[in-house]
Amino acid sequence: MDEALLEVKDLQALFRVGKREYPVLHRLSFHVGKRETVCMVGESGCGKSVTTLALMGLLPNNGKVAGGSIRLDGQELTGLSRRDWGALRGRKMGMVFQEPMTALNPLLTVERQLTEGLRLHRGMDKAAARKYAIECLETVGISNPDERMRQFPFQMSGGLRQRVMIAMVLAVEPELFIADEPTTALDVTIQKQVLVLLNRLKKNMDAGILFITHDLGVVAEIADRVVVLYAGYKVEEGPVREVFQNPRHPYTRGLLSCVPNIDDDTAVIRAIPGALPNITEDIPGCRFHPRCQNVMDCCRKTIPEELPCGAPGHFVSCFLEREGSR
Ligand code: SF4
Repeated sequence: MDEALLEVKDLQALFRVGKREYPVLHRLSFHVGKRETVCMVGESGCGKSVTTLALMGLLPNNGKVAGGSIRLDGQELTGLSRRDWGALRGRKMGMVFQEPMTALNPLLTVERQLTEGLRLHRGMDKAAARKYAIECLETVGISNPDERMRQFPFQMSGGLRQRVMIAMVLAVEPELFIADEPTTALDVTIQKQVLVLLNRLKKNMDAGILFITHDLGVVAEIADRVVVLYAGYKVEEGPVREVFQNPRHPYTRGLLSCVPNIDDDTAVIRAIPGALPNITEDIPGCRFHPRCQNVMDCCRKTIPEELPCGAPGHFVSCFLEREGSR
C-alpha cells in the first residue's frame, strides 16, 4: 500500500429506534491508501452505506458515531462540528452516489453546479471556473462540453448525469473519493466507462477510492483490496486476488458462490440461505451463525476475533481459522 490516506479504527455507530439505541457498526477498522481502491462489499443492509455516511459526517438525525476514530490524511474527523465537516467534504472528500439526481440540483444548469464549487472551494473567478469546468467535463469523456454546460440534469441520460457528478467531484480535486454503488443504475457499457475513468483518476490524482458495491464483477475489475461486511462487522479483508481465490470466511465464500458462472451450463444460481438480521435483533456470538453451514458451539456464544490468514494483508474473523479448526 502507498501512504495511508484514510484510517478508520474501531468505528462504532448507533441508530436510535424508538427509545433504544442499536449498534450498526461494530468496531470497524480499515484503511485506504493513496492511489488505492478499496471495495467494501456485502448484502444490502450490511452497513456499507452507513459507513460512508459516517465518514462524510452525514449520518441521519437518529444516528451517531459512538466511538473510534476516522483520520483523513492525519486529521481526526470524529468530533468535528457540522460546519467543519461540511468544509472538508467539499475540499478533501468527494462522494459519488448511485443516483446522480441525489447530488445534482434539477433546477440549475450544469455550468452553475460545476462552477459554484470551483468558486467556493478553489477561489476561482467566473471565467477561470468556466474554463476549468469545461476541462473537467472533457476529462470524464463528455463531448460537446460547451453545450452540456447549458443543459439541466433532466436533459441528460443517466450515464451522462453520472459523469457530470464525477466531474463535479473531480473539479475540487478531493483526496478521497467515496463512491456508493455509482454504476448500479447504469447499463454495462457505461458502467465500464465509469470504472475506467475512476481508475484513471486514482492514478493521475494521487487520490484514494472507497468503492461501495454488492457487485463482485465490479470488485474484480476495480479493487486493489476488499473489505467484506456482515451486519455491521468486518468479517474478511485482503488483497482482491487473494480474497477471490482463497476466501476464508463462510460468508465471503457464500457471496462468491452466488456469482453466476457463464462458462458452466450446469451451474445453478445460488443464494445464501436466510437473511441479514435487522438491527434490533440481538444475536449472540458470531452474527453470521444462524446462516452458517460450519457453525460450531463456540460460534453461538463468542464473537470471533480477527486473525491473519493466507497472504500478507489477508484477515478473517471466524473460528474456523483457529489453529487446527480447518
Ligand atoms: Fe460460521 Fe462460526 Fe465462522 Fe461464524 S465463526 S462464520 S458461525 S464458522
